[in-house]
Amino acid sequence: MKEIAKAKIQATAEENQNLFFEYLRLESVSTQGRMISETAEFVKQLIEDFGGKAELLNDLGGHPIVCGFFPAGQKGNSEKTLLFYNHYDVQPEDPLEEWKTKPFEPTIIDGVLYCRGVSDNKANFMARLNAIQLLSESEEGLPCNVKFLIEGEEEIGSPTIDLYLEKHADLFKADACIWESGSKDSEERFTIDAGIKGIAYFDAWVESAEVDIHSSKGAVVDNAAWRLMHALSSLRTKDHQVIIDGFYEMMTPPTELEKSFVEKTPFNGEKLKENYGLKHPLIVEKLDRTPQEALILYPTLTISGLLSGYTDPGSKTVLPRKAQAKIDVRLVPGMDPENVYEVIRKHWDKKGFKDVQLKLLTGEKSFRTDLTDPFVDIVLNSAKKVYGEDVVLNPNSPGTGPMHGFGEHLNVPILGSGTSWAKSGAHAPNENIRLKDFYQGIEHMINLMNEFGLIN
Ligand SMILES: [Zn+2]
Repeated sequence: MKEIAKAKIQATAEENQNLFFEYLRLESVSTQGRMISETAEFVKQLIEDFGGKAELLNDLGGHPIVCGFFPAGQKGNSEKTLLFYNHYDVQPEDPLEEWKTKPFEPTIIDGVLYCRGVSDNKANFMARLNAIQLLSESEEGLPCNVKFLIEGEEEIGSPTIDLYLEKHADLFKADACIWESGSKDSEERFTIDAGIKGIAYFDAWVESAEVDIHSSKGAVVDNAAWRLMHALSSLRTKDHQVIIDGFYEMMTPPTELEKSFVEKTPFNGEKLKENYGLKHPLIVEKLDRTPQEALILYPTLTISGLLSGYTDPGSKTVLPRKAQAKIDVRLVPGMDPENVYEVIRKHWDKKGFKDVQLKLLTGEKSFRTDLTDPFVDIVLNSAKKVYGEDVVLNPNSPGTGPMHGFGEHLNVPILGSGTSWAKSGAHAPNENIRLKDFYQGIEHMINLMNEFGLIN
């Protein structure tokens, strides 16, 4: 295969800049339903402009999904199909006063391109299209078939994606998938995620009376706040170990290969303390796991909110009738949201907290690519050619996304690649990418498709 010169990559990206900017100007804020159908139509047209076939799917409700297809060139491997997952929706642009530029007017300052949605995740889609054009125009042509699934509901939790994947599994059938995102870290190391954690999010509450009561009655009357605190503290020790029967037992033990990648991922505890102004030691200091293992291989159990009684200034001597908490559990492979509900429920029942209510609000399963799949090496090696030897591979990211349905219905390895950097500010004001990262992103996609087309 022939390499494509960096100058040629940049020139092509510049020729396509007008189309990129038109895409960025579309205010596709999914949570507010702004310009959703216009943007879906635009994305369909864009795929056609780059020589592909495209259609919109909306037979199962929700925002339209754009489905795209580019066949392998004459010398390419038509037996191999790569699926790209992207989303055309973006987060709201507020707070407006914190933007240095107009949020939906793409603006380049000193090699940095500012616009809402550029990092998350419109640039990644454009980088992929640029790579497809450059390969298609080369002597060898496109090395493999390429499919796109571009949804419009990622920023609102992808509520319908699994329905579409299940019904249209044949349409999206592929041998491997490149996820929407990827970034360099604060030390400029290119980072690839080969999975995601899942999540189970709960409401927990307890009621101890019909009405709030004068606190003098605390001499004889139980109190919802104390009750909930005892129930919550029965879940985890002071040293941060979760002590729910069956909680850690659900985890699928990580393989040696997964552990070896985890060991190599960087972690800077001092920087973390500084960035957040942490006032307590890191909890892993008391646990039998490294920070990397905790972030990637272990579940979390987080109290995300607490509400009870009087919390305004001054004193009000009241005994609260109700106490509520929000509980957020990040899941690793082997853990289902429903199973997590079951073990917490059983634990409370056994410990005498039958009166403490628990409700699963949302759940998403985790996903981890089989790291022995040859596609993992293709993604890694093609990245090293662009980004150097320092490329980091996380068996799964500590965060969550709609990856599980892709694994379940399409049965593909899934890895991320993207053009963001440590200060891209996704979801925040002044969202941006660096143009040099954009060109590298195109180069990575070119190398990756070239290598992918070669495997039998
Ligand atoms: Zn996002």
